[in-house]
Amino acid sequence: MGGLGSGRWHGYQTVKATTEDLLRADSRVWHRMGLLVPGETFPWHWKREDRVISTMGVEVLPGEDGRAGGVVWMFSRPNSDEERHPVGIHWRDTLGTKDRPPWPVFVCPRCDGKRKPALLYLGKQGPGCRECLGLVHVSQRLTRYDRAFRAVGRTRQRLGWDTPENRMLRLKPKHMHWKTFAKLVAELERQERKAMEPAVAVLARFKKRAGIG
Ligand SMILES: [Zn+2]
Repeated sequence: MGGLGSGRWHGYQTVKATTEDLLRADSRVWHRMGLLVPGETFPWHWKREDRVISTMGVEVLPGEDGRAGGVVWMFSRPNSDEERHPVGIHWRDTLGTKDRPPWPVFVCPRCDGKRKPALLYLGKQGPGCRECLGLVHVSQRLTRYDRAFRAVGRTRQRLGWDTPENRMLRLKPKHMHWKTFAKLVAELERQERKAMEPAVAVLARFKKRAGIG
């Protein structure tokens, strides 16, 4: 049915994928758009900057009370057969408001319904919830790298390498023991590598896509 573009695939492992890196579907959006009609099939397009980057077909399975009981995500990845992934739909009551109709959430097929989120992501083995796919929010990742950069700053301070000139000269502070100095330099190199991880990963991905890696 549909085809997944290759642009969004997460081709590196050094950085944890964020929720922004994978294609995802929102059951509330489908419901609001009136797409969850049992027995119907609809195409779903993922867009970025108004351009369709990936497409899948969604078959709506019948459930109780004439409502949708599940959906099947249908798509093919580049150069492979069509995949079909059934995903249950659970109708959740709106807390404390009996008069409001229930709204649909996905039953995560990976954790067997332990989690029922409105958002499911498309991983390499099919759809799953954020926890099952080990995704972090972008803000979490930024915080992690903020921390990494702060650690680099602290170690540079201790070494007295807080200006570009000092960083180039890489001199040992006068009263520091050589052993302490060696330890701090090794620590700094480790911290710098860690802080550079996202940039390295982006570069690797870029090289791979350009066919030069
Ligand atoms: Zn899950």
